[in-house]
Amino acid sequence: AKEAGRNTFEFYRPDAGEEAGNNLLLLEEIRSGLTRGEFLLHYQPQIDLASGRLCGLEALVRWAHPQRGLLGPDQFIPVAEEGGLIHALGKFVLKTACRQLQAWQRQGVPVVPVSVNVSARQFAHPGWTDLVRVQIERSGIDPHQLELELTESMLMRNVEQAIATMHELRALGVTFAIDDFGTGYSSLSVLRSFPVSRLKIDQAFVRDITRDTSGRGIAEAIISLGHTLKLRVIAEGVETPEQLEFLKAAGCDEAQGYLFARPMPADEIPGQLARDPGQTGAEP
Ligand code: C2E
Ligand code: MG
Ligand code: MG
Ligand code: MG
Repeated sequence: AKEAGRNTFEFYRPDAGEEAGNNLLLLEEIRSGLTRGEFLLHYQPQIDLASGRLCGLEALVRWAHPQRGLLGPDQFIPVAEEGGLIHALGKFVLKTACRQLQAWQRQGVPVVPVSVNVSARQFAHPGWTDLVRVQIERSGIDPHQLELELTESMLMRNVEQAIATMHELRALGVTFAIDDFGTGYSSLSVLRSFPVSRLKIDQAFVRDITRDTSGRGIAEAIISLGHTLKLRVIAEGVETPEQLEFLKAAGCDEAQGYLFARPMPADEIPGQLARDPGQTGAEP
């Protein structure tokens, strides 16, 4: 029954018991995948819209699963979070990103900051700030090159605690971005108290730009809110020249999306950094 359940996973909704069983199997696979080195990071370029230059990279975790091929985070992060493995996975991600930054530095690649996604349970883990400190020290990177992406909902869960943790890391030189901005419910006064440098407009709003006028209004509102708070604003999921034109006209600072580049293996990044800005698509 277990075999059949796995094979037909795509075709019906497993009941709660079966889903729990599948998750336990997956959790075991994640655990062994971590020790066998099956996880890796892809990096997606971020483009400064004024210059057209690559100005940052977002690290996105992938799992080279021995049977199921390359899996994206949506297929394992929620289970890792639920099952208590997110700290181990998060440690791998942070360590890999720091080492990669250091390797590029050593190779003389002109380095740009790398952003690492942090999930709620990682951020709330008591060992988190120490982990970040140790990874920075061991890799010898400039901490200003490391940005952590947090979501509004994570920050709102325990505002005081979040602010304290962020200040602790800020003291090391680490910077912060608010990911998927606009999807949470942060109040403006609270938003102002977080030491963040960038707002990332959620891709749902970027998609709506070419859909309707309220979509455009929301994007404009987020950009002006970000600028009022003296933050850089980056749009995620930019796929079309129309979206890009609108964002540029609205004063958005940076963009990231398939229009420019997909997330890619680390060894393709030096070539991207060496590319002429005119070819990135930022200046059509
Ligand atoms: P996110 O941080 O909002 O990342 C952006 C997602 O949008 C990525 O999906 C990226 O591949 C995708 N994307 C980029 N440009 C485009 C575009 O033009 N169009 C569309 N449709 N999508 C685009 P991905 O890699 O599947 O990651 C999904 C989510 O998983 C991330 O959302 C982030 O919340 C989480 N995640 C990724 N890596 C990590 C990690 O290392 N640790 C943790 N805790 N979470 C991670
Ligand atoms: Mg992100
Ligand atoms: Mg996002
Ligand atoms: Mg997301």
